[in-house]
Amino acid sequence: MAFNNSKTLCPFCNGVNKCSAESESACWCFEVQIPKSLTALLPIGLIDKSCICLACINAFKENEHLFKEKYGPKQN
Ligand SMILES: [Zn+2]
Repeated sequence: MAFNNSKTLCPFCNGVNKCSAESESACWCFEVQIPKSLTALLPIGLIDKSCICLACINAFKENEHLFKEKYGPKQN
Protein backbone atom coordinates (compact mmCIF):
# COMPACT_ATOMS: atom_id res chain seq x y z
CA MET A 1 0.00 0.00 0.00
CA ALA A 2 1.06 3.59 -0.45
CA PHE A 3 1.69 5.70 2.60
CA ASN A 4 0.71 9.32 2.56
CA ASN A 5 3.11 11.82 4.06
CA SER A 6 0.61 14.37 5.18
CA LYS A 7 0.98 15.73 8.68
CA THR A 8 -2.73 15.80 9.20
CA LEU A 9 -3.58 12.31 8.01
CA CYS A 10 -2.84 9.05 9.69
CA PRO A 11 -0.34 7.07 7.60
CA PHE A 12 -2.22 3.83 8.26
CA CYS A 13 -5.91 4.50 7.78
CA ASN A 14 -5.66 7.89 6.03
CA GLY A 15 -8.01 9.29 8.64
CA VAL A 16 -7.58 12.72 10.18
CA ASN A 17 -5.23 12.23 13.12
CA LYS A 18 -6.39 15.38 14.92
CA CYS A 19 -2.80 16.13 15.84
CA SER A 20 -2.40 19.60 17.24
CA ALA A 21 1.34 19.50 17.77
CA GLU A 22 1.71 22.56 15.59
CA SER A 23 -1.09 24.49 17.23
CA GLU A 24 -0.99 26.27 20.56
CA SER A 25 -2.58 23.56 22.64
CA ALA A 26 -0.67 20.44 23.55
CA CYS A 27 -1.53 17.52 21.34
CA TRP A 28 -3.04 14.35 22.72
CA CYS A 29 -0.21 12.47 21.02
CA PHE A 30 2.28 13.74 23.59
CA GLU A 31 0.42 11.89 26.30
CA VAL A 32 -0.06 8.62 24.50
CA GLN A 33 2.55 5.91 24.48
CA ILE A 34 2.97 4.82 20.91
CA PRO A 35 4.41 1.30 20.83
CA LYS A 36 7.78 1.12 19.07
CA SER A 37 6.56 -1.93 17.22
CA LEU A 38 3.79 0.21 15.76
CA THR A 39 6.02 2.96 14.41
CA ALA A 40 8.31 0.21 13.14
CA LEU A 41 5.64 -0.61 10.58
CA LEU A 42 6.13 2.78 8.95
CA PRO A 43 8.69 3.45 6.25
CA ILE A 44 11.80 5.08 7.73
CA GLY A 45 11.06 8.42 6.09
CA LEU A 46 7.69 8.72 7.80
CA ILE A 47 8.68 7.92 11.36
CA ASP A 48 8.32 11.00 13.57
CA LYS A 49 6.88 12.89 10.61
CA SER A 50 3.36 11.60 10.36
CA CYS A 51 1.05 11.36 13.30
CA ILE A 52 -0.69 8.07 13.84
CA CYS A 53 -4.33 8.52 14.81
CA LEU A 54 -5.71 7.43 18.15
CA ALA A 55 -7.96 4.85 16.53
CA CYS A 56 -5.00 3.08 14.98
CA ILE A 57 -3.01 3.14 18.22
CA ASN A 58 -5.95 1.58 20.04
CA ALA A 59 -6.52 -0.98 17.31
CA PHE A 60 -2.85 -1.93 17.47
CA LYS A 61 -2.92 -2.30 21.25
CA GLU A 62 -6.10 -4.33 21.09
CA ASN A 63 -4.94 -6.77 18.48
CA GLU A 64 -1.43 -6.35 17.19
CA HIS A 65 -1.67 -9.38 14.94
CA LEU A 66 -4.83 -8.18 13.23
CA PHE A 67 -3.44 -4.70 12.80
CA LYS A 68 -0.29 -6.01 11.15
CA GLU A 69 -2.37 -8.16 8.86
CA LYS A 70 -4.31 -5.11 7.77
CA TYR A 71 -1.58 -2.48 7.54
CA GLY A 72 1.74 -4.22 7.96
CA PRO A 73 4.16 -5.02 5.18
CA LYS A 74 3.04 -7.94 3.08
CA GLN A 75 4.94 -11.13 3.75
CA ASN A 76 6.42 -12.60 0.59
ZN1 LIG B 1 -5.27 5.82 11.71
